[in-house]
Amino acid sequence: MEQNQNKGSKDDGPKNKQSLLVVVICLMMGLIVVNLFSILTKNQTNQINYSEFIEKVNDGEVKEVVIKSDTLEITLKEQKIMGQPVKVYTTMSESLDELTKRLEKADVTFGREQPSPVAEVILSVLGMVIPIVVMILLLSFMFKRMNGGGIMGGVGKSKAKAYVQKETGITFKDVAGQDEAKESLQEVVDFLHNPGKYTAIGAKLPKGALLVGPPGTGKTLLAKAVAGEAHVPFFSLSGSDFVEMFVGVGASRVRDLFEEAKKNAPCIIFIDEVDAIGKSRDSRYGGNDEREQTLNQLLAEMDGFDTSKGLLILAATNRPEVLDPALLRPGRFDRRVIVDRPDLKGRVSILKVHAKNVSLDETVDLDAIALATSGAVGSDLANMVNEAAILAVKNGRSAVSQKDLLEAVEVVLVGKEKKDRILSTEERKIVSYHEVGHALVSALQKDSEPVQKITIVPRTMGALGYVMHVPEEEKFLNTRKELEAMLVGYLGGRAAEEIVFDTVTTGAANDIEQATKVARAMITQYGMSDRFGLMGLAETQNQYLDGRAMLNCGDSTATEIDHEVMKLLKKSYDEAKRLLSENRDVMDKIAEFLIQKETITGKEFMKIFREAKGIQEPEVKGRIEEKPAETEKPLQISETAEM
Ligand code: ADP
Repeated sequence: MEQNQNKGSKDDGPKNKQSLLVVVICLMMGLIVVNLFSILTKNQTNQINYSEFIEKVNDGEVKEVVIKSDTLEITLKEQKIMGQPVKVYTTMSESLDELTKRLEKADVTFGREQPSPVAEVILSVLGMVIPIVVMILLLSFMFKRMNGGGIMGGVGKSKAKAYVQKETGITFKDVAGQDEAKESLQEVVDFLHNPGKYTAIGAKLPKGALLVGPPGTGKTLLAKAVAGEAHVPFFSLSGSDFVEMFVGVGASRVRDLFEEAKKNAPCIIFIDEVDAIGKSRDSRYGGNDEREQTLNQLLAEMDGFDTSKGLLILAATNRPEVLDPALLRPGRFDRRVIVDRPDLKGRVSILKVHAKNVSLDETVDLDAIALATSGAVGSDLANMVNEAAILAVKNGRSAVSQKDLLEAVEVVLVGKEKKDRILSTEERKIVSYHEVGHALVSALQKDSEPVQKITIVPRTMGALGYVMHVPEEEKFLNTRKELEAMLVGYLGGRAAEEIVFDTVTTGAANDIEQATKVARAMITQYGMSDRFGLMGLAETQNQYLDGRAMLNCGDSTATEIDHEVMKLLKKSYDEAKRLLSENRDVMDKIAEFLIQKETITGKEFMKIFREAKGIQEPEVKGRIEEKPAETEKPLQISETAEM
């Protein structure tokens, strides 16, 4: 990848600094010359010793004596060189009184040296100038470091870290699933290829497209693929790269980025996490001068450029609801491409894309993995395939097996096995009953999902044990009955603890959290409560992030909602207790088996279950085709977390 640091506006700083440096050097040299001169002149004069001086005074050879701090400058009467009296020097070796008396007696003119006013002025000026010069030098050095090293990120200069790739080398083939997104972007590719075709007919070309979706679904990958398909350079920048603590810096970066991109057109500018600058300017999400200026500049640049040159802006965000409406109006990011979580088919093809370069053995069934990873995004799946390959290498195998892939799914979802955590016998028993409680409740209710695996091996992400459910088919809708069965399933662990040990533990915290979330959603969002009927009481926020719901009702209604949630949970818990108490013997059998084996598969579980209940093995049924619908349920893992 070739990195391009955009050039900033020219400033004349370096020239000023150079002339300053010349002045300083001249001053220094002047000082040195003056010093040298005085030393040389001193050395040129004659030095005599003090007794000689006394002799000359007594002999009347001395005309004048100038007393300098500790030396005497003696002007002789007789000798002259080129008409100038000769001066000799000596070091004073008696007290001033004695010297004065001696000179008075010999009638020699004498006096103390008065420093020349000019020298004094020069000295004092130098005394002031030198510290200032040193300070200026130091400051200019520090600024140089800042601009270069980026303590303040090059204030006033655009240092936007635009990564430019001449050829991304990624095509639509590398992006699996996301067929609708690819279809909308195909048009854009065509326009970048051949803008003339569109302009000839009078069509205005789109300026930008906004890729919207949860993190890891392949938005960046799609943008790169657009550039790769169109064979144009790819300028990529994150929204947060623009925003600095100094107002105006972001705006100058936007300006420079567009300038640079215009020079390279046709090309693609990709702004990742555009919400960092594109947040709505109303005060709801908090204002910020710098961000607003940057946004204004971006809006102005988007209006200003000529699309016929083949410049296209792609931006990605997972919070489209916070974006400023001005950014979304036609003529700016007028296209919105949804890049959502992949469905079953999408997951299979993503797994295939990533498994392309990995050696797989004959046991691998990517469809089964895709079915077990409902709710996972592209980056999760890429990660799982890689984890599986690492596991295979670790186990000394040359190809990845289905077991590696299933283990990798768990590693990504619940972390690695924590082998050094040894649970006491009592705790193992509690965890076993807890997990069997979940699994048995699931098996006893016909509207819940079958169990894939039960384990009591602790994991690094905190689970002491868990039950993995895998749906028989991908689901997009849940019926009320299924949700109610889910609630009973979540609370099955706690119910088992209470029935068997007559006490409860902290292990159910995660179950309680999940159950409460589902119960609350049933009442406030899905219109499944008899008390409130179809009234919408909560709104989903950040649809593409955590999908949290915010209550949208009065305080007293909120209290009533809490009561309803409590009632629903209590009903579910009672049902779980009833189911487990009625099947205590089955529960004991499975729990015992689990304590021995640590991990049991869904098949083993069902075998014991059917034997104990006297049920016949059913025939294997084929997979049902997917049904299109709206919401998708993530993979369920009911775990017992440590506290
Ligand atoms: P986003 O920008 O949406 O957060 P990225 O495009 O950065 O996600 O995706 C991260 C990684 O996940 C990619 O580099 C790729 O390996 C993998 N990935 C995500 N979605 C897909 C997909 N649809 N097909 C293939 N790989 C994908």
